[in-house]
Amino acid sequence: MKYHIQTLGCQMNVADSQRLASALEGMGYQAAHPDEADTAEVQIINTCVVRQQAEDKAWGRLQLLKKQKERNPNLVIGLMGCLVGVKDPLRLRKKAPYVDVFIPPSEVEPLTAFLQDRTTQADAVTEEVAKRARLNQYMDEMIPQPERDLVLPVHERGDLISAHVPVVYGCSHACTFCIIPFRRGVERSRPVGEIVSDVRALARQGVKEITLLGQIVDRYGKDISDGPNLAELLRVVHRVAEEEDVYRIRFLTSHPNYMTQKLLETVAELPRIMPHIEVPIQAGDDTVLANMKRGYTRQQYRDLVAQIRATIPGVAIHTDIIVGFPGETEAQFMETYHVLETLKLDKAHLAMYSPRPGTVSARRMEDDVPKREKKRRHQMLERVQGQVQAEINAQYLGQTVQVLVEDTHKGKWRGRTPQNKLVFFEDESRNWKGQLVDVEVTWTGPYSMQARLPNTEDSRAAHSLDTIPLVTMQPVDAERRD
Ligand code: SF4
Repeated sequence: MKYHIQTLGCQMNVADSQRLASALEGMGYQAAHPDEADTAEVQIINTCVVRQQAEDKAWGRLQLLKKQKERNPNLVIGLMGCLVGVKDPLRLRKKAPYVDVFIPPSEVEPLTAFLQDRTTQADAVTEEVAKRARLNQYMDEMIPQPERDLVLPVHERGDLISAHVPVVYGCSHACTFCIIPFRRGVERSRPVGEIVSDVRALARQGVKEITLLGQIVDRYGKDISDGPNLAELLRVVHRVAEEEDVYRIRFLTSHPNYMTQKLLETVAELPRIMPHIEVPIQAGDDTVLANMKRGYTRQQYRDLVAQIRATIPGVAIHTDIIVGFPGETEAQFMETYHVLETLKLDKAHLAMYSPRPGTVSARRMEDDVPKREKKRRHQMLERVQGQVQAEINAQYLGQTVQVLVEDTHKGKWRGRTPQNKLVFFEDESRNWKGQLVDVEVTWTGPYSMQARLPNTEDSRAAHSLDTIPLVTMQPVDAERRD
């Protein structure tokens, strides 16, 4: 029997799909070849609702599966993730009666139980999930408890170089625009033992880079009394990485309010923790930030960027920005523009505001920035950020950087630097996949770099984790506007 999982959205969904695939393969199912996805008897869509576009995509795919099911009533359709949510997973049953099983984010049991006994247990299990949600008991009980080591799906075993490990599920912050807390529930940290067991299991299946995931990853442990914090968790995972030959560890996403000096010092100290921080600002204007309920000001964010750069040599900082939040004026938008222009961050994930039903901003604020204006603002930020990235990357020209090679793309090896910058190089002499390689940068652009192997017998640099080039952008005239 074949299965196919379509994954939409963030890395948390990628990790959830991996765990679902692992459970299915444990039951004897096999992944359908991507070219023959429609032949799978079990079809899962792991959904995202952060933006309307992602939600529309899920419904579009469901319509196709519905038609498929009309032709083949034995087809099993599973709907997973944020569209389903944790609070009332069965609420979409009326709208999509052709869906066999509704699977809350980070859960595998509803599907595995359904497949074990399609006719009787399915309803019982889904009803049970709903009942638990109604009783508001899901917070502890719905954290998946792995009964066995995490086993990657067959096509990724020995092949996947970089994998994600969730460490905190859900979020309790409630930014006014965000649907995540409604769909993924309150913040729940995973026990250290579970995380370590996942890291070891992934390492033994060939994974060389682990990214620890959380909606606010630096709040790790705050929901457990006397629990470890993220800095302590990183120390434990670092030790495991040394034992298991995992070369690199990353973590995301951080929130400016929870980033501590201790955490930054830990990143600076431990060689396998990469100098790469993802910390969204979302907007550069204090009124917009307050309306978003982000909990910090532009100046506090600027200070944090300075603190991160002062503590972690050669660090890359990524941010997220939403343009066209309700009420955002041209002047307020320009504050965001100038933040990007002057702070010179390594990457900015840009999004146009789209109201998500049920959120505070959708209920109480008018979506009053016209779509065309949102697009214009988005394009302006894209342009300025492109220039900043071109400028940052140009500093690598002629330098030797260490890349972890992930795969090939159009005949070239593709890898990433410690700062997560994409590098391509050509070499047919050997298989570099999963290796740390020192390469010399020969061309740079805003989104990637080209490189070549230096003229040495063997440029392989596995385990020499101390060659991070010190390219750090300083903010230009950072104080000018604040
Ligand atoms: S911190 Fe804010 S934006 Fe991030 S998941 Fe939580 S509520 Fe959403």
